[in-house]
Amino acid sequence: MAGPKIDDELIRGVIQQVLTELRGPGAAPFVAPAGGGSTGRDGVFATIDQAVMAAAEAQREFAKRPVEDRALAIARIRRICVDQAETLGREEFDETKIGRLAHKIEKLRVVADRVPGTEFLRTDAFSGGNGIALQEYAPFGVIGAITPVTHSLPTLAGNAINMLASGNTVVFNAHPSGAKIAAKGVRLFNRAIREAIGLDNLLTIVEVPTLESAQQLFDHREVKLICVTGGPAVARAALKSPKRAIVAGPGNPPVVVDETADLKNAAVSIIAGAAFDNNLLCIGEKEVFAVASIFEELMTEMSRAGAVRLDKAQIEALTRVAFTPGEGGKVLLNKDLVGKDAAVLARAAGFSVPEKTELLFGETSADNPFVDHEQMMPFVPFVRASDVDQAIALAKKYEHGYRHTAIIHSRNVDTITRMGREMDTTLFAQNGPSTAGLGLGGEGYVSFSIATPTGEGVTTPLTFTRQRRSTTVKAMRVL
Ligand code: NAD
Repeated sequence: MAGPKIDDELIRGVIQQVLTELRGPGAAPFVAPAGGGSTGRDGVFATIDQAVMAAAEAQREFAKRPVEDRALAIARIRRICVDQAETLGREEFDETKIGRLAHKIEKLRVVADRVPGTEFLRTDAFSGGNGIALQEYAPFGVIGAITPVTHSLPTLAGNAINMLASGNTVVFNAHPSGAKIAAKGVRLFNRAIREAIGLDNLLTIVEVPTLESAQQLFDHREVKLICVTGGPAVARAALKSPKRAIVAGPGNPPVVVDETADLKNAAVSIIAGAAFDNNLLCIGEKEVFAVASIFEELMTEMSRAGAVRLDKAQIEALTRVAFTPGEGGKVLLNKDLVGKDAAVLARAAGFSVPEKTELLFGETSADNPFVDHEQMMPFVPFVRASDVDQAIALAKKYEHGYRHTAIIHSRNVDTITRMGREMDTTLFAQNGPSTAGLGLGGEGYVSFSIATPTGEGVTTPLTFTRQRRSTTVKAMRVL
């Protein structure tokens, strides 16, 4: 007769039972390393199932803790993001090989300073002849979060702050090209949280993420809410999921510049937004539609502010290396050039610009692929429009209905209002860089997950809550 099959699960179960007996009920669960020395420790697991089950166990404990413990956990995440910004920023830069080192570091500091935590939670109260009702914002439980390569650790840290603030625990599936820094962040945060409040696995991650592990995360029965930050494919996958999904999807932010604009400010702002992290930001200025009467003056201001203007032949050469022909006459983005320095783009196209160049720009027609595609490179195409109506119409067309971000430079209140209505985007910035729309040089708070197709906007702790109401009939109104 065959005996019971001895496998890892069985062994883990026995160890767990022995440890529980030794340490008493209520002790933190033992998590054995599985499939590699580091997995199962400090929140890093070999499989989605392990990561989710550990986060589910942690959430049950976390739910018993006061809000003050959430604040303590978040404070530790913030401190790591500030104290280790340079090391972590460099490691993210070395691993992903995209963007700019200084901005990797800055993004971590911004997360620490500007992502809202428990102070954003609130209770709504109703009081009247029938008594009182309290509406509270409760945790969902375990959240499955997918993060992009463009800001691997900043998105993870920002999501962690928001989601822990509202009492959830989180399982991350990072982009494979930013997975090491994401796992390192989870380890550091977990250790610090354990030190602060004695809980493990409030944040967990699968060590080697794949598309399959992302799908397993979507499908896991213990995952109650999904939050996806990424491009069109993952946004579509999340929207198809039967679970509630918060989707921070792609953009292709257009800029309109009209004849009333402060052109110097417009140029400085376009460079600040588009050159940030080599135009990896989903809110970053990706194409400009400027009216003909100020077009040349705007181009001169761009050069004066330090951007390098490309001529027709250079733009053609750059377009040839940045896009390759795909099926059905479509063109495909050359991912090898995404997030690379302006000087690298120039070299790839067969010419050179000073190494320190922040941004390339030049005149193109509207049908250049740099206009149509979310290129995430430090080259911005400028398209000449006959008037502001045409500029707004082109902006609307090339934003592709993502309803993500749009920018205008104008002193005409009617034009600004019209464009705002017409674009219907989640973020609409006027007379400043796109980053102002995220509270960097503008008002408001920050998140690196801006929920666009699902409509939650710049995410906060309240985004990750369920509303619950408690009603007391004919009592407790003490007026
Ligand atoms: P990406 O879509 O290639 O990857 C994003 C994440 O989704 C990664 O973790 C990836 O592994 C995963 N993924 C991709 N396809 C998937 C699928 N079919 N099923 C499951 N998971 C899948 O994007 P990226 O290059 O990492 O990031 C850039 C994109 O993200 C841009 O389109 C940008 O606009 C967008 N983005 C949006 C926001 C926002 O807040 N709205 C923020 C940052 C980035």
